[in-house]
Amino acid sequence: MKIAVFNTRKYDRQFLDRANVKRDHELIYLEPRLDATTATLATGATAACIFVNDTADAHTLKLLASEGVQYLLLRCTGFNQVDLKVAEEVGIKVARVTNYSPYSVAEHAVGLVLMLNRKLHRAFNRVRDDNFALDGLMGFDLHGRTVGVIGTGKIGMIFAQIMHGFGCQLLGYDAYPNSAFEAIGAARYVELFELLENSDIISLHCPLLPSTEHIINTNAIDQMKPGVMLINTSRGKLVDTKSVIEGIKSGKIGYLGIDVYEQEDNLFFEDLSDSVIQDDTFQLLQSFPNVVITAHQAFFTEDALTTIAETTLFNADCFAQGQHCPNELKFEEKVIVKSSA
Ligand code: NAD
Repeated sequence: MKIAVFNTRKYDRQFLDRANVKRDHELIYLEPRLDATTATLATGATAACIFVNDTADAHTLKLLASEGVQYLLLRCTGFNQVDLKVAEEVGIKVARVTNYSPYSVAEHAVGLVLMLNRKLHRAFNRVRDDNFALDGLMGFDLHGRTVGVIGTGKIGMIFAQIMHGFGCQLLGYDAYPNSAFEAIGAARYVELFELLENSDIISLHCPLLPSTEHIINTNAIDQMKPGVMLINTSRGKLVDTKSVIEGIKSGKIGYLGIDVYEQEDNLFFEDLSDSVIQDDTFQLLQSFPNVVITAHQAFFTEDALTTIAETTLFNADCFAQGQHCPNELKFEEKVIVKSSA
């Protein structure tokens, strides 16, 4: 199958080429992101392959269909960038990577917890500057602390298990609780307000849906413990950034670790080190000593990239051979409500 692979970096090519060794797909690597202005680059291809920050809205999908594209292959789990209803209307089948190393994201979230708590970002710079003073570097034991996990799916479960290993008490909140969470030990489901009121650390692992957008807003922050640590490796829009900034300034939020940001589309995945960043909110966040930001890299492990490439081309195999694709996305209400993003 001829596949126009949008938004590619060196590492995408490396892993897709490796997965394609035993296959014979024709992979056309394109650097631009997919949107209505770039859709014609897929001319002659049977499939377009995209990532989280591409745009497959109604207009773009209609353009792709008019170019003869029949399949949309997502190199990610989330599909909030795709208008599934229009895809169905114009006859484009969509498939995603339903499942890839949840350890990658969960372990990154734990990394943010440790970095913030033990102030490793500051300690690293100090020692490089021959400043061996400890003032300002004091942390707290994770053992015995209460960790709130919002969204106890694949990633949230692993995050919870790791934090259980540190000796933390776990509080979970999920629209669809699963019995495996409470089986971890020292773990119980509670209502959201109870999780917010009682957690020393809160980590977000639910998808971005209309019901979860700005789940962390001023009202939620008001309910939190003073000095709480907030971790978001899920989606930027789960958090109302302006409210979080107010929370940091007032001291209510003691630590913030994020791998995702509301306006990340204008920043992340690009080298902007020679540019003047125009996003004042982001620059303000960066200026706080108790904030650590990574640029949507939680998924970025060898293991995850291998699975992403293999599954993407497996989906292409299924479509090319006219077989049922287990990772196909259909426009159905239950998919919209229950899916991970
Ligand atoms: P998952 O579908 O396995 O788990 C999501 C959980 O959230 C489910 O248990 C679901 O029931 C729950 N949920 C749904 N609606 C909810 C609501 N309104 N309130 C509370 N919980 C709700 O997904 P996953 O694989 O664990 O992924 C979790 C999130 O991680 C994804 O949605 C995605 O946004 C994010 N993610 C980030 C990266 C990264 O690189 N930073 C990579 C992959 C995934």
